[in-house]
Amino acid sequence: MAAPNIDTIVSLSKRRGFVYPSSELYGGLGSAWDYGPLGVELYNNVKQAWWRWMVHERDDIEGIDSSIVLNRLVWKYSGHEDTFSDPLVDCRECNTRLRADKLEAGKCPNCGSANLTDPRPFNLMFQTHVGATAEDDPAALVYLRPETAQGIFINFLNVLTTSRRKLPFGIAQIGKSFRNEVTPGNFIFRTREFEQMEMEYFVRPGDDERAHEEWIENCQQWFVTLGISPDNMRLYEQPKEELAHYAKRTVDIHYRFFPERDDDEKQWDELMGIANRTDFDLRTHSKKPENAEGKRLNPDSTEDLSYFDEATKERFYPFVIEPAAGVNRTVLALLMDAYSEKTNDKGETRVILKLRPSMAPIKAAILPLAKNKPEIVGMAKAIKRSLQPKLRAVYDDTGGIGKLYARQDEIGTPFCVTVDHQSLEDEAVTVRDRDTWEQERVKVADLPEHLLTRLGS
Ligand code: ATP
Repeated sequence: MAAPNIDTIVSLSKRRGFVYPSSELYGGLGSAWDYGPLGVELYNNVKQAWWRWMVHERDDIEGIDSSIVLNRLVWKYSGHEDTFSDPLVDCRECNTRLRADKLEAGKCPNCGSANLTDPRPFNLMFQTHVGATAEDDPAALVYLRPETAQGIFINFLNVLTTSRRKLPFGIAQIGKSFRNEVTPGNFIFRTREFEQMEMEYFVRPGDDERAHEEWIENCQQWFVTLGISPDNMRLYEQPKEELAHYAKRTVDIHYRFFPERDDDEKQWDELMGIANRTDFDLRTHSKKPENAEGKRLNPDSTEDLSYFDEATKERFYPFVIEPAAGVNRTVLALLMDAYSEKTNDKGETRVILKLRPSMAPIKAAILPLAKNKPEIVGMAKAIKRSLQPKLRAVYDDTGGIGKLYARQDEIGTPFCVTVDHQSLEDEAVTVRDRDTWEQERVKVADLPEHLLTRLGS
């Protein structure tokens, strides 16, 4: 089972502290969201899992963390100043601004009118100014990055030289990106501020198509290991007319974000894009390349980002394969996919978030059966403290045991540890499993090892 729609996750998130509407006390800020105590744990688990998989567990990938505000020329030569735009139309009846490429039958979704302006390009980059200069000084104009990738390309030579890498190798980065989206929405699916996990994998021209296939397979597999059901994912081959200016081929991994829609085709949207960016970016940021008349294509760059192959004594611009995923969309997909409901023996329906233990915000909740018994409370708190250095554990005594279990099920905690009267005698506790609701008795001395083993499985 998965969530029937995004709204179910929106209300669970607000109720339990995963995600809140941002700036709500001032009326909100068009589709900005804040991550609460549980949301930030899940969010960090996603990023850590990606970094471990992409950087630590591989032999051929380095990580970096580049600036959000870069020299404006980066965005000139990357093509973003000229082409990073969406086609915008205005509805003449109700003045709503719309993305022309997302319209249904050429009609305004707000009022149904077909009386729309002609589309015009709307650049998605946020502008700001650096330094204490006049706001309209063009020399002070900068952008908030709309992708983390360019921070990687401009550091290609730095990483190549300092890490003494040979092709093929990759550079990974996680960080915030900003796009002034025309129509943000669907909760954290599309926001103006979001976080990306991107990796640029540099290969010899000619090896690009095979590497692209390998990364498509790897990335799908990664989402499965995070706990997303393959039934709710599909591959989508971007048609030629949808391809970005730098791409030779792009395959998206789609997730079923909209299961409530009747038309199966409309249930899916992008979770991750895997693009073959060719040698476009390294070439465009290089001082060397010239056009047919011998004129330098980039008169501003001071570096040549070509690669010298010692074995063949050839110099060339590597091709790039780019897996690019959103942290926020991954969090949404995980919450939707983990959502399930179960009826207890009293006929009450409970929400259970079946997150993989590695993703769960809290790994173990320590619950005293009697909160008015100081020995039981003291023992429960001591157990919690002993677990804290090893795993994320919490203590809760603010309800009856049934309510406490239900609360932990709803936020995806894999294990509840209950301390009862018997525990004072036998130095053992009850460990309850979130998914099966089965219970077993475990010696307190064995508890950390027991939980760590089960969390790892
Ligand atoms: P879309 O077609 O949905 O606008 P895109 O193709 O422009 O996305 P990419 O440039 O490929 O997106 O970015 C890589 C990933 O970054 C996407 O797969 C998505 O997970 C995430 N992403 C992009 N834009 C947003 C956004 N506005 N809000 C949240 N995540 C985003």
